[in-house]
Amino acid sequence: MKTVEKTDFRDKISTVDQSGKRLWIYPKMPKGKFTNWRHIVNTILLIILFAGPFLRINGQPVLMLNILERKFIIFGQIFWPQDFYLFGLAMMVGVIFIVLFTVVYGRIFCGWICPQTIFMEGVFRRIEYWIEGDWTAQKKLDKQEWNTEKVWKKGLKHSIFFLISFIISNTFLAYIIGSEELLKIVTEPPTEHLSGFIAILVFTGVFYGVFAFFREQVCTNVCPYGRLQGVLLDKKSIVVAYDYKRGENRGKFRKNENRSTALKGDCVDCSLCVSVCPTGIDIRNGTQLECINCTACIDACDSIMDNVGLEKGLIRYDSEENIAEGKSGFNWNARSIAYTIVLIAITGLLTGLLFLRTDVDATILRTPGMMPQSHEDGRVSNLYNYKIINKTNREITLELESLTGTATLVGKNQITLPAQGTAEGALFIYMEKGEMSGISQPVVLQIFEDGRPLKKVKTKFIGR
Ligand code: SF4
Ligand code: SF4
Repeated sequence: MKTVEKTDFRDKISTVDQSGKRLWIYPKMPKGKFTNWRHIVNTILLIILFAGPFLRINGQPVLMLNILERKFIIFGQIFWPQDFYLFGLAMMVGVIFIVLFTVVYGRIFCGWICPQTIFMEGVFRRIEYWIEGDWTAQKKLDKQEWNTEKVWKKGLKHSIFFLISFIISNTFLAYIIGSEELLKIVTEPPTEHLSGFIAILVFTGVFYGVFAFFREQVCTNVCPYGRLQGVLLDKKSIVVAYDYKRGENRGKFRKNENRSTALKGDCVDCSLCVSVCPTGIDIRNGTQLECINCTACIDACDSIMDNVGLEKGLIRYDSEENIAEGKSGFNWNARSIAYTIVLIAITGLLTGLLFLRTDVDATILRTPGMMPQSHEDGRVSNLYNYKIINKTNREITLELESLTGTATLVGKNQITLPAQGTAEGALFIYMEKGEMSGISQPVVLQIFEDGRPLKKVKTKFIGR
C-alpha cells in the first residue's frame, strides 16, 4: 500500500491548531519605513472615506449607493436604473482590473487599500497597542486574573472599539441612504426611524465583532479575493517575498563572524518577521494564502539587517522568479507592460462612458391601438407616447425634432422637466408620402436643450 510521506509543510491555516481551535495572534508592533508610509496612506484614505458622504459636487454627494431606492450618485452624477448597463460594464471592468492587477502586482491592494486592513492594522490594532501595550504585554494581560488593571484596560479598549464601530456603521449607512437621511435618524427619536436605527445597531455589532474578535479570519477564511490568490498569482507576480537564495542557510548571528565562511546565509533566524506578522505566518516558507502583503515583515527584517550590518531587503517586494534567478527589484517585462496598458485602457473606457452619459433618457413608442391617419394635405401621421427622464439635478426644458418628417408635441411646444423628474405625454409625427420608404420605417427623433442636441431616440413610423 502507498504511504504518504510526512512533510514539514502545514496542512492547516496558521491561526488554527491541530484540533481546529482558533489560535489568537499577538503580533509585535511593526516599525519602519513601510509602516510609516502605510500610516500616511491609511490616514489619507480614512479622511476620504469618512468625509465622502458629506462632500458635495453640484449639491450632490460624491458617492451614494442607495440600493433600496435604486438611486446611485458617483462623483455628483446621478445614475438611474436605466444606466444599469454602465454598472454591468463597471463590474466587468472591475473583475478584469482585479485579475490583471493581481497577476502583475500581487496583493498590494490588501496591504495598502483594503478597508479591512486599514481599519484592523491602522486603527484597531494601534488602539490595542496604545492601551494594552506591545505583544508580550497583551499576552500577559490576557493570561492574568481579572483585576482592576485588566477590567480597566479591556473595558476601555472595547468601549473605544464599539464607538469606532458605531462611527463606521453610520458612515457606511450614509453611503447608502445619504447624509441628510442619516442626520434625521441620528437627531430624531428612534421610533420615527426604527428600521434605520436597527440597521445602525446591526452594522455596529458586525463591525465590532469583526475588528474586536474575528480579525485576520476575514482575510484568511472569508474574503473571496484572498481565496482567489492561489489561481491569480504566478512566479512573475510581485509579492512580499523572502530571498531564500540569500537568506539560507539561516543561522544565529555571532558578533564579528564572517557568514560566508561560516556557510551561513543572511537570515539570522531571529524570528522577528514571524513575530510581527498579523496573520501568524512565517514568510520564509514562501508565499502563503494568509499573507496580506502588509509589509510588517519587511520592516522587521530590514531593522535586523541594519543591526547586524547586512544589506536590507532580505524580505522585500519581489517576484518568485527574480528571487530564484538571483535578481532583485521590479522588472518591466512584456506581460506586465501589456497588462498595465489594458488596465489603463479599460479604466479610461469606463471613465469616458461615465462622462459621456447623456443628461436625459427617453422612450418614444407608438400609441397602442392607434392606426396611422391620412390627412387632406396628403400627409400621414402616427401618434406616439413619450417618457423622458431628467437625470440631472436642475430643471431642464427640451424641444423635439424628427430627422424625417415633422414632430409636433400634443398641447405644448416644449417639455419642462423638474430636477431628477420625469415627463410623459404624446406627440405626432407627420410624413409626406414621398418621405415614406415603405409600410414601416425607422424614424429618429432628436432631443434638444437650448438648441444643444442631447440625445437621439429611435422609433417606428407606419405608413398607409
Ligand atoms: S508575511 Fe509579512 S507581509 Fe505577509 S502578512 Fe505576514 S507580515 Fe504581512
Ligand atoms: S526577520 Fe529577517 S533575519 Fe530575522 S528571521 Fe526573519 S528573515 Fe530571518
